[in-house]
Amino acid sequence: TAQIINGKEIAAKKKVEIAEHVATLKSQGVTPGLAVILVGSNHASRTYVTNKEKTCKDLGMYSLLIEMPEEVSEEDLLAKIEELNGDPAIHGILVQLPLPKHIDERKVIETISPVKDVDGFHPINIGRMMTGQNTFLPCTPYGIMVLLEETGISIAGKNVVVVGRSNIVGKPVGQLFLNQHATVTYCHSRTKDLKLHTKQADILVAAVGIPNFIKADHVKEGAVVIDVGINRNEDGKLCGDVAFDEVSEKAGYITPVPKGVGPMTITMLMYNTLKSAEQSLTRD
Ligand code: NAD
Repeated sequence: TAQIINGKEIAAKKKVEIAEHVATLKSQGVTPGLAVILVGSNHASRTYVTNKEKTCKDLGMYSLLIEMPEEVSEEDLLAKIEELNGDPAIHGILVQLPLPKHIDERKVIETISPVKDVDGFHPINIGRMMTGQNTFLPCTPYGIMVLLEETGISIAGKNVVVVGRSNIVGKPVGQLFLNQHATVTYCHSRTKDLKLHTKQADILVAAVGIPNFIKADHVKEGAVVIDVGINRNEDGKLCGDVAFDEVSEKAGYITPVPKGVGPMTITMLMYNTLKSAEQSLTRD
């Protein structure tokens, strides 16, 4: 049976390291600051934002929550972002997605200064990631790479199959594996014969958003299975995209849900904010 990759534990270890660096930076007169903008009252979004605020405080960072009503105009939201772009106390700006329909998400993301784009969603930073330059890596994909690194799983030459091609998870995680010399296959909703591909995977990443979508017969014996999904099953319980019980019989390593990829996402957000604050020292 598979070894469980404990994301909660790895995240805790990383957070200790981050808190130490924050303390050092503060002694040099800089407190890393993260601004989070929450538009409207989406329940899941509020939970995420509350967690981000709490984690900031736990690590000694400054956190600024800006709440805007559902009906806020795009103009007002963009003006707020511009204001934060110019605020020296703020090193990271995050606009919690999704946004109401009347606001253009692309425009919002492109208004955030790339030097404060700690989500790594700005096209400039995505381009830098693709070309292997130093940048802010998107937090969930970055967290996945750290999980593997901390578990001692090598990547070069491995067959990596990513199921899902969203801009925030599937696409960038495949790119990060490619940057580390894996052979990468993307599968998605139009893929014919999914199993044909997934059974070749030494490392299988599921980022689909369907409970228990990946079954044991999708998986090669001994594979590393990374479950990005955060779903609710019929009885309201949190579950991933992978049928954990049957797949863990066959896989070599597996991430659970919860306590797998989830805790890493917020940790890498904190890491990116710290990094931005450090970079501000040499920039200003
Ligand atoms: P998304 O809905 O944007 O993308 C889903 C992808 O799955 C699409 O690219 C689609 O092509 C693919 N897909 C859908 N049906 C498929 C099928 N039948 N066969 C193959 N591929 C199929 O979702 P997302 O934003 O990438 O998120 C995916 C999951 O990860 C969700 O459960 C989400 O809640 C979770 N998530 C977790 C974290 C975290 O921190 N752990 C972060 C972001 C997202």
